[in-house]
Amino acid sequence: MLKVLVVIEQRNGKIKSSALESLTVAGQLAGDNQISAVLIGGKDLPIHSLHGYGINTLLTVTDDRLELYNPMAYATALTQAINSCSPQLVLGISSPLTRDVMARVAARLCCPIINDAVEVTINDGVVQILKPMYAGKCLAEMRFAASAQLTMLGLRPNVFPPCTKGDDVPTVQQLTIDLGELPLTTKEIRQGTSERADLTEASLIIAGGRAMASAENFKILHECADVISATVGASRAAVDSGYAPHDMQVGQTGKTVNPNLYIACGISGSVQHMAGMRTAKVIVAINSDEDAPIFSIASYGIVGDLFEVVPELRQQLATLLK
Ligand code: FAD
Repeated sequence: MLKVLVVIEQRNGKIKSSALESLTVAGQLAGDNQISAVLIGGKDLPIHSLHGYGINTLLTVTDDRLELYNPMAYATALTQAINSCSPQLVLGISSPLTRDVMARVAARLCCPIINDAVEVTINDGVVQILKPMYAGKCLAEMRFAASAQLTMLGLRPNVFPPCTKGDDVPTVQQLTIDLGELPLTTKEIRQGTSERADLTEASLIIAGGRAMASAENFKILHECADVISATVGASRAAVDSGYAPHDMQVGQTGKTVNPNLYIACGISGSVQHMAGMRTAKVIVAINSDEDAPIFSIASYGIVGDLFEVVPELRQQLATLLK
């Protein structure tokens, strides 16, 4: 069993819900070992939100320069947290932020890093990982020995069940760190205006492609999403055409999503789009072309005009959920 340090991601004083998924895996891999976690940020860290999730020691790192994400500062903070507790495994979620900071730290510490794990098991001291490769066309199996050097592991969000809440309280240890001279300063982070879950964490997504034909037409997707509290996504063709902002893009050069339900509206199903959504648990494709490649991975297909199907779908869902 492993000595694990879990990287907990917070934004604006709120723990990312996916952090609880890494605590589930940490529990499996740590066995009887203590679990440490590290929380990095500005002054007010949401420590109380981490009570009850099996963390024995919560390392906190605070500094004004950690208020907004700064890759250099976060990498220094995480490196020093690792040095302070010498874990065998550093575990986090493969979100854009944690993926970025863990890769930097792996380079600094010259240790291996595996991202996007969708299955993690431990047997006789050997950790076995499955992770999608080649845009999700196959799964690679990777192994490392629990006794080996420090390894960093990122889990794909929305794959592992969130840790259930108990009544334990972690011991909090505030680390004093030296961020040194930073070569860059983060002045501002502009957030999207959406109140909905981020695409990478959403469990329901309705996405539109080039066939939406205009930004205004995305309104029908937002109306349908409102009924089921889904997040709206887009293909790159829709983003490049100016119908949707880039933070809505799903795919190889956009976000990788893993929802319970993905409704693709007027999206052909290019290799690059499917790279970002093919692991969705249920895929519904709405397309007027019955030969569209998206149907090859769809659980349910509707051949039809999305401008007729989506409003009808919204109405049916609203009736069902009344
Ligand atoms: P199209 O391929 O044009 O498909 C539109 C679909 O809408 C068609 O299947 C058509 O039958 C259907 N349709 C038309 N009218 C209607 C209607 N009224 N009702 C229902 N269906 C209708 N793409 C991404 O999405 N994400 C990425 O991250 C990404 N990264 C890329 C990276 C690289 C390096 C490259 C080269 C490309 C990348 N692409 C990416 C682009 C990708 O190759 C495709 O061009 C893009 O996914 C196509 O988007 P689309 O399916 O919306 O458009």
